[in-house]
Amino acid sequence: KEFVNDSTELELEEKYGKLADKLHTALHEVIGHASGQLNPGVGETKETLKNYASTLEEGRADLVGLYYLYSPKLQELGLVDDWKKVGMAAYDGYIRNGLMTQLIRLNLGDDVEEAHMRNRQWVSAWVFEKGKADNVIEKITRDGKTYYNINDYEKLHDLFGQLLRETQRIKSEGDYAAVEHLVETYGVKVDPTLHAEILERNKQFTSAPYSGFVNPVLVPKMNDNGEIESFTIEQPKTFAEQMLFYSKNYSNLPVVN
Ligand SMILES: [Zn+2]
Repeated sequence: KEFVNDSTELELEEKYGKLADKLHTALHEVIGHASGQLNPGVGETKETLKNYASTLEEGRADLVGLYYLYSPKLQELGLVDDWKKVGMAAYDGYIRNGLMTQLIRLNLGDDVEEAHMRNRQWVSAWVFEKGKADNVIEKITRDGKTYYNINDYEKLHDLFGQLLRETQRIKSEGDYAAVEHLVETYGVKVDPTLHAEILERNKQFTSAPYSGFVNPVLVPKMNDNGEIESFTIEQPKTFAEQMLFYSKNYSNLPVVN
C-alpha cells in the first residue's frame, strides 16, 4: 500500500481494516448522530452554527465512533476478537485518510468544501497538532514521500475524547465563534505541496475516488386478504437504472407545473 508507513500498519489494515471501517460507520450513525443534546434554551444548530452545523455534527459523530472503537467493551460484546488491533487499524485508517488520501478527490488549489471531508480533516489535523509535543502522530518523509505514523494510541484515544468534549460543548451551547475557528483553522485549507505529492502518488491507481450503492428492492408477496405473506429481494443491475426508477416513482414535484 502506497500510503501505509510500515509492515505492521499494512498487516493491521489487511486483517482488520474492513471490520474497523464497518464498526466506525455503525458507531457514527447509531450512537454518534443519535446522541448529543442541546442545552435548554439553545436553538437548533442550523440557527446557531449556521454554515458549520453539518460539518460539526459529522465530526462529533466521527469522534463518538473513534472514542468507542478503541475500547475493550467491543470485545466484551463479542463484536471483535482483538479490540486493540481493531482500534489501531481504525486509527491508522482515519488519520491516513484525513491527512492524506481523501485529497485525491480534490483538484490542486481547491479548498475542502464538503462537510464530511472537512470534518475528517479538522479532526485529524487537530489531534495531529495537539499531540505534537508528545509525538503522538509523527510525520515521516522517506524517499520524498510523506507518511503519518501513530506512536501512541492511548494518547490519541485521549485526544479524540478531548475534541469530542469540545465539539459537544459547541453543539450544546451553539458556540458559533468556536466552530468557525475550529473548521477554518483545521478543516478547509490544504497544504499544496502535500496535495501535489498525493495526487502524483495516486496516479498509478485506477480506483474511483468516490463509490456509491445500489440498494436491494424488497418485493412483497400478498395473500388473498391483501396482507403481506412473504417477500423476495431483488437486485437492480445498475446505479443509473435505480436512480431513474426513484425519480420516476418517488419524485414529489410534477415535471410540469
Ligand atoms: Zn454522519
